[in-house]
Amino acid sequence: MTKIRVKALLARETAGEEVSLEGWVRTARHSKGVSFLEISDGSSFAGIQVVADATLDGYDPGIRGLRTGCSVRAKGQLVDSPGKGQRFEIHATDVELVGAVDDDYPLQKKRHTFEFLRTQGHLRTRTNTLGAVLRVRNAASQAIHEFFQERGFLWLHSPIITASDAEGAGEMFRVSTLDAAAPPRTEAGDVDFAGDFFGRETMLTVSGQLEAEIAALSHTNVYSFGPTFRAENSNTSRHLAEFWMVEPEMAFCELDGNVELAESFLKAILRGVLERCPDDMEFFNQRIDDTVLATLNHVIDAPFERITYTEAVEILLASGRDFEFSVKWGVDLQSEHERFLAEEHIGRPVVVTDYPAAIKAFYMYRNDDERTVRAMDVLVPKVGEIIGGSQREHREDILRDRMTDAGLSHDAYWWYLDLRRYGSVPHAGFGLGFERVVQFMTGMANIRDVIPFPRVPGNAEF
Ligand code: ATP
Ligand code: MN
Repeated sequence: MTKIRVKALLARETAGEEVSLEGWVRTARHSKGVSFLEISDGSSFAGIQVVADATLDGYDPGIRGLRTGCSVRAKGQLVDSPGKGQRFEIHATDVELVGAVDDDYPLQKKRHTFEFLRTQGHLRTRTNTLGAVLRVRNAASQAIHEFFQERGFLWLHSPIITASDAEGAGEMFRVSTLDAAAPPRTEAGDVDFAGDFFGRETMLTVSGQLEAEIAALSHTNVYSFGPTFRAENSNTSRHLAEFWMVEPEMAFCELDGNVELAESFLKAILRGVLERCPDDMEFFNQRIDDTVLATLNHVIDAPFERITYTEAVEILLASGRDFEFSVKWGVDLQSEHERFLAEEHIGRPVVVTDYPAAIKAFYMYRNDDERTVRAMDVLVPKVGEIIGGSQREHREDILRDRMTDAGLSHDAYWWYLDLRRYGSVPHAGFGLGFERVVQFMTGMANIRDVIPFPRVPGNAEF
């Protein structure tokens, strides 16, 4: 008898075979002489119903004692289900308890708040919502790799420990083996990182971009997809201290090519998830946000709008809105502005380009007007910024000026400058926040509930 996962069982053409499966009891209903167990093994949104009757060995008290959370092994005949909403069920010939559940099992049948579930990080992946989130993340990851692999992009494994600050924003976590209580000191009294593991101060990466630029200048089209870290103390529903980022980087590519790639990329992820996780997406649409399916389909079908930062400011000023943060040319767009543009003014994703140089990173290509750079942010309804990118400054002299303006040491970035001296080419790329996309797709309000183990200020329990 073959052991089989629930998803494969439910996908069968016909009933009839003897099967064996393993999983956890999601719900157990015991009536007179017969028990109905819904078994889940995480492979699909739906579980499968196992019907066990009193003729089975150990029915009472064994099977009758099964309840939510127990792990079981079941064997039986796959039959067409007379019940509504399920094609098949299993008429058990044997049900074996593998692991019992203590009385204080925290996940009872009633609905729990997401706040409560965050305190149960070791169990919450068993819930409908987090279970669906994990499958959607998996499908989105698969869609991401497929998208790039089909286009000949090389997956670059950028480092997690780094000595350079890609954003120049200083919101980094230090990586150190020094004794925190009594670190070695220099004569001036500063911590002496020369005695640290790497012989210098090192950090967790905030972005794989600079390394992706290295690889793009030999392999043309590359992408990194991995965890990034930001020690920004922003307790918002859209920020994590550890999140996953996808960062394509393309040589011989300028801003237009970058915008085009971002649009087809985002659409490909949405399509991939809708195709692979229809039940999970249906669930999000029914229980979390009844606009997600319509929104996703609309986003897939409609071309993204494209405006410049200067136009965005004009739109915001003309809106007559009383924003919390007032707008004028030169200020960075806040979440409320981004959402107004994508959600209300345009009603679908919008790519904003050519931001003021002063509010963007030093590596962005400076336009001829000398006050804007070839930056691009993709804004979507509800979430706001989902992608941030730019054409990179590939001209050494201008890059040096920009670094000086930003107060960055030319020596520290010697290799980044070298790339502008040895076969430099126009190149461009962007970073897509993986969790922001999952939030957008699922309609989940808080980013902490779209990653299995959220890292946020004051919390790293699970
Ligand atoms: P924001 O203004 O929303 O903080 P950012 O300008 O700092 O974003 P980038 O540095 O451009 O963002 O990073 C690229 C992408 O990574 C963003 O578009 C966003 O999708 C995602 N991102 C950035 N910071 C976070 C975070 N703390 N948690 C989750 N995703 C993030
Ligand atoms: Mn940020």
